[in-house]
Amino acid sequence: MAFILGAAIGSFLNVCIYRLPLDLSVNRPKRSFCPACKNPIPWHQNVPLLSWLFLRGRCAHCGARIAFRYFGVELITALLFLVVWRTFPPSVAIAYWVFVALVIVATFIDFEHFIIPDQITIGGTVTGVLASLAVPELMNADSRLAAVIRSLLAAALGYLILWIVLEAGKVAFGKKRIRLETPTPFFWKRQGDDADFSVGEERTLWSEYFARETDRLLLHCNEAKVDHRAFGEVVLECHYNRVAVEGQEYALDTVDDISGIVRELQIPREAMGRGDLKFLACIGAFLGWRAVLFSIFAGSVLGSLVGLVTLVLGKRVWSAKLPFGPYLAFGALTWMFFGQALVRWYISIIYP
Ligand SMILES: [Zn+2]
Repeated sequence: MAFILGAAIGSFLNVCIYRLPLDLSVNRPKRSFCPACKNPIPWHQNVPLLSWLFLRGRCAHCGARIAFRYFGVELITALLFLVVWRTFPPSVAIAYWVFVALVIVATFIDFEHFIIPDQITIGGTVTGVLASLAVPELMNADSRLAAVIRSLLAAALGYLILWIVLEAGKVAFGKKRIRLETPTPFFWKRQGDDADFSVGEERTLWSEYFARETDRLLLHCNEAKVDHRAFGEVVLECHYNRVAVEGQEYALDTVDDISGIVRELQIPREAMGRGDLKFLACIGAFLGWRAVLFSIFAGSVLGSLVGLVTLVLGKRVWSAKLPFGPYLAFGALTWMFFGQALVRWYISIIYP
């Protein structure tokens, strides 16, 4: 029953993953529709897991491919619902079902859009505090009041830690505007999927300036050259994958060289989305303060490993920036299932 319920909920989560980032309502239209031909999908073609298999991942109406993600999300949700039900007492399990659902939506949206919508993060934090009120065991508390206070504190801790990281990052790396004392030559030269970018003596990889799709680097130039097109005094408005000059936009994977004389740089300020801060608050509200610390630790370790491996294997391209949300989610779920065991193991090392 838990598995079937999970598959059905997973089907709804697919709707959230598709519609939330596009600001579409999740309950209007009520029927699911094919993303390609927009035809409504009748209920008998919308049975979780089974329909995707029977229709072999295609829309029955227009034959367009329906992404494997739809099947994957339903299967993951079903399996997690089952494992949660078998692992925890019923009241805790129901609260964790809600949490698992939030984590799955956050993960898949972050992978695709590099954002986590407020409905999930802020809504999830409020839900976590209410869940702690209803089920004080979530916070290992005897009273409802103590549980709510712990939940709120853990949420605040999660938000605050990442906020400090974010602000420290700005102080350390994010000088917003850099006015150069004398106009300085700069060069941008494509190297495979990345590029070398140097201003005067300083040389960096292009990708290091950008963490999000929305990040923007402004170069105020006395003169500039994009391949063979020469410009006088201009502002180059750069995203990680494109550059706009005087209303013209060039995709950077079609450009080989950019050069010129720059007098002022404006570099992207934030290396992390605000969504990550609120998402960690949600994790704290459901799982407590220790889960906050563990999620940052486990998420950073896994994120770094994946980043390194994809870089070494040459699988990382322009568009493949690393979102942080999925790694936080990994840390949170690991804590949910193995946290107690990890703490016991850790203590047994310190006090053998
Ligand atoms: Zn269709």
